[in-house]
This record gives sequence, C-alpha cells and structure tokens, in this order.
Amino acid sequence: MNPFTYSRANDAQAAVSGVAATAQAKFLGGGTNLIDLMKMGVEHPSALIDINRLDLTKVEELPNNGGVRIGALVRNSDLAEHELIKSRYPVLSEALLSGASPQLRNLATTGGNLLQRTRCYYFYDPAFPMCNKRDPGSGCGALEGYNRVHAILGQSEQCIATHPSDMCVAMAALEAVVRVQGPKGERTIPFADFHRLPGDTPNVETNLQPNALITAVDLPPIPFATRSHYLKVRDRASYAFALVSVAAALELEGGKIKSARVALGGVAHKPWRASKAEQALSGKEPNEQAFQAAADAELAGAKGYKYNSFKIGLAKRALVQALTTVASLA
Ligand code: SF4
Repeated sequence: MNPFTYSRANDAQAAVSGVAATAQAKFLGGGTNLIDLMKMGVEHPSALIDINRLDLTKVEELPNNGGVRIGALVRNSDLAEHELIKSRYPVLSEALLSGASPQLRNLATTGGNLLQRTRCYYFYDPAFPMCNKRDPGSGCGALEGYNRVHAILGQSEQCIATHPSDMCVAMAALEAVVRVQGPKGERTIPFADFHRLPGDTPNVETNLQPNALITAVDLPPIPFATRSHYLKVRDRASYAFALVSVAAALELEGGKIKSARVALGGVAHKPWRASKAEQALSGKEPNEQAFQAAADAELAGAKGYKYNSFKIGLAKRALVQALTTVASLA
C-alpha cells in the first residue's frame, strides 16, 4: 500500500476543501470498497478525508411532496430497516438486504454504495496488464478472457464491466436524485445521469465533478412503489454479486398496467433502466404474455460473449419472474 495522509472533516464544506487541496485525495466513508482497492494496489490516494463526522446520517420525509431524503452517510443496514423505506419503497429495502453481508451492510454508506467499483477480475488484479478502466489504453482483458459476470447491455469494445450495486438498481427504478456539494456549490443529478456507460473512457464512471461530495439521495413520492420487488439471481444465496437482478414496481388500474418502473442489475456498466420493457408494459393486462413481451423488447439489443451469453435468457426469465411477483402483491 502506498503512503497516504489521514484527516477528519467536521462539515461538508471542509471536506470538499480538503479533497480539493490535495491531488489524488479521496473521501473516506465506510471504506468497504476503497480500502480493499488500496490494499490490492488498484487505488492509490495520497490523502483520505474522513467524512464520518458529517451530519449526513438522517432518513427524513421531504417537506411538501411526500418523498424521502437519505443522507449520504446512512448505513445500508439502517436504510434497509427504516420504516419509511420498508413501507413506501420495499424494492429498495429488499435490494439493500440482498447485498454483501450483514457486517458490510453495517458499515457501508449510501454515498459509498453509489461509487462502488466493478468486480471485474481483471480490474482487481494489477498484475494483469490489460484493463482500460485501471490503466486507460492498455486494452480489455475480459473481452477475450473469462467474462462470465460481464455486461450484455450498453458495453463498448473498451470495457464490458458491470456495476456491482443492488441498491442503485432500485434507486434507478425509483428515479432517485443525487444531491452533491462541490467547490462551486450544490447541485442535483438525476439518477439516470449519475453513472456512465463505458464508451471510450471506462475509467470515468460517473458524472460527479472533481472533488464533489455526495450529500444525499432524494426519493420522489411514488405511491405505487408500495407494490414493488427486487429479485436477485446469483451463484450462492448470500454474499455474492448479482448475475442478473431486477427492480420492478407496477401501477395497476382497472385490470391494466397504468405505469411500470423496471431496472436491471448485473447486466451493464450502470444500473440499467429498462425503459423498453416499461413502454411495452404500459396499458397491458399484467399477465405472462405481456411480461415476456416486455422482457424480449428490453433484451433485443443484448450481446453476449464467450462465457456470459446465458445472461440474456436469464435476464428475460428474471424479468418475467419479478413482474409476476409484483403483479401478485396486494
Ligand atoms: Fe478492465 Fe472493463 Fe475490461 Fe474489466 S471489462 S478488464 S474493468 S476494461
């Protein structure tokens, strides 16, 4: 591990100023991903600014609109068990509880979860020379390598990595808004614009500006999100990343689907909002035929590689299963 300095910030502005003052400085929240990456020689921050003293630990109702604001330092365990989340956005609670282990969830933060980095094997191994995300221009080892867990949607010839978060898949379906504080002040970023597809710059993973701090995530009011579900398909029942996951919510009226919110995890470089599936579902009766048509529409453009083509069929089946579950909820 390279040497680095450590300091604590007492408010958001001091944290932002501290990171801006030192090249290659990083914020330290739960550290559940960052510290691993430092130990493995993938991340080399020159300074860590500990933000754990900041007052960003509340989950609270937004005044006026019935939405919910989640502080960036709310731990994943606390968020999953919070009554506002369990009652209004069960898909988010389920997604959180499907991630990692209880010990990790007790430490991992909402803001940090947004910034998790891919679990591509080649990215995590600095001894492997080819990874455009770790070393831009070096190539992509996964393209012709062991790519079982890699992307089938939105990928590029430069990178076929997937985003590892469960929480973010639910937030994508819920159209969350990310609140950030940077050197020039506060701004908001719609969730769909927060993470990026790899394109030619897979090393640039978000549209967060340099030295900006995530302070909160806002969930808009979505009354029908009470009818929602998160389905995660993985190699073992716990402590495993998704091969494919689905966050789904349905608004039913008069025996028809009035509107749908669907997002996929484990299939792309970012949480994948399944807008084609949503369009296909609109106005249809909630039955297997409609769910299958929606899954076919969403995966029509999917592309598999040597070891991960099975994900295309798996994603379709997971979508049908998740929507069937949601439709059956009272
Ligand atoms: Fe690196 Fe992306 Fe290729 Fe993995 S898929 S080796 S992260 S460039």
